[in-house]
Amino acid sequence: MKKYEVVIVGGGIAGLATAEMFARSGLKTLLLEKQEKLCMETSGLHHEWFHFGSLYAILPQKQFFRTLVGGIEDVLDYYRDFNGMNLRIDGEGKLVKINRQNAWFRQDNLVYAIATTNDNDFSLRKAKRIDEIARKMVMKLSWGKAIKRFVSRHNRFYKYDWRRGCASRWIPRAGWFDYSEEHLQNFENDELTLASTHISMQSYDCPMNAYSIISDLTKSLISNGGEFLSCAKFLDYRKKSNRIEVVYDNGTIATNRLILASGKALQEQSKERIKVKSVLSPLLVVAPAVCSSNIVRLTPFMDQTINHLKHSVEGREYSLIGGGYFAPPNDGEAIRRASHQLLEKAQTVFPKMADAKLTRLYFSTKSEILSSKARRNYLYKIDKIERDVYTIVPGKFSLAFSLAVNTFKEVMGRCPQTYTSYHSDLDVDGFIAPIKHKSIMKEFLQAQFDTRRSPRITVVSQDERELVS
Ligand SMILES: Cc1cc2nc3c(=O)[nH]c(=O)nc-3n(C[C@H](O)[C@H](O)[C@H](O)COP(=O)(O)OP(=O)(O)OC[C@H]3O[C@@H](n4cnc5c(N)ncnc54)[C@H](O)[C@@H]3O)c2cc1C
Repeated sequence: MKKYEVVIVGGGIAGLATAEMFARSGLKTLLLEKQEKLCMETSGLHHEWFHFGSLYAILPQKQFFRTLVGGIEDVLDYYRDFNGMNLRIDGEGKLVKINRQNAWFRQDNLVYAIATTNDNDFSLRKAKRIDEIARKMVMKLSWGKAIKRFVSRHNRFYKYDWRRGCASRWIPRAGWFDYSEEHLQNFENDELTLASTHISMQSYDCPMNAYSIISDLTKSLISNGGEFLSCAKFLDYRKKSNRIEVVYDNGTIATNRLILASGKALQEQSKERIKVKSVLSPLLVVAPAVCSSNIVRLTPFMDQTINHLKHSVEGREYSLIGGGYFAPPNDGEAIRRASHQLLEKAQTVFPKMADAKLTRLYFSTKSEILSSKARRNYLYKIDKIERDVYTIVPGKFSLAFSLAVNTFKEVMGRCPQTYTSYHSDLDVDGFIAPIKHKSIMKEFLQAQFDTRRSPRITVVSQDERELVS
């Protein structure tokens, strides 16, 4: 029976980044994936919004903000050798993105449209029930403070000298003395029908090129002797005195350590030792693009948020729109409601939706591990479920880097190698699934959509079953 130091189940970004970290650190590593290619589930079906902590600066708890800023430190410390990793600290200690081919991080940062308390969102006249009125009143009282905290944290981030290190300790300590209106402006963008009750601020989050990240990590995994087995469905594991036997649909392999990184399948694979909360969330692909910039509407009311990222394929720009809409898996009615809410919101906010030639909506699954009290957990989570067996969840694609570093530390009790050397000219395209929204756009371009036909709205589930047509 073939034996490994570590077997990782799940070739999403969590499993891939972790396998790469073990392989580059000299351990005999195997990555098992049931699909034909890497990142065919959630890791290939997201917005491609790289979170550096800017959005999560709105949350009152420091923990989310601190972890995401810590993610930047891990990217700088452990990923600088990758060709596409274009984040640098310049001579003045500022974080900059250099221009590179296949760069991981794009230059066109997101812009916030922040609803102020004069906005209709807070209007008590529109509230129908007593609990709604109470909620609006509470939000109205707390939102001003939340915005001040958000702005202060951004100001501290922008001022920070990254040569000092310890950013994740220093930046989250922002207080009222960091507040200034230096980076605030009135929100003005006639591509959106947002009322004049919004202010605008530049985010330091940016769109990413996920394919380039996945490709660089795969090259390093393989160059460092790591193995990848596709179409290999993990079934079970058995603990023996000196090894773990991993059973998959085509055989059994032995390993010293097993890491389960299988997203929504984790609860079952961990033999119910951890609880995974999975929700479906819709994304809308619209072409031609309905807005020329990357915009996030920030409001305390989750169902009134909307975000817009502009992407392009073969030089043709299109929009990817999301919002705070969720549905439990297997609840057809809730899935349909979430689809309609997102479509309706997009049509209200972006007038150019009326000219869309392509309007396609798909769902992706968010999997989180919750403690008993928390309603959401956006952070990565590493659990040891028994000796030498671990489960890992990234919380965000963007946190897979910190997850990989810290999984290595947790499992091996030491630090991983900070550097990697790899064959950048390896052809790994055959191992990687295209990012979903890009393949939708590609299909649309290839089909040379007949502009005379009226736009057709298709709502599909993650597994491509049509729900509404
Ligand atoms: C709508 C939406 C938008 C998002 N947008 C962003 C964003 O813009 N930025 C961001 O940072 N994060 C975003 N996220 C979150 C991010 O996409 C996820 O946190 C991340 O991709 C999860 O990675 P993962 O590797 O844990 O899961 P997955 O990508 O789901 O990987 C799990 C893998 O395990 C495999 N697997 C399962 N069972 C088995 C088995 N039995 N044997 C072998 N393999 C198995 C699966 O095939 C899959 O490949 C978004 C999430 C959603 C739902």
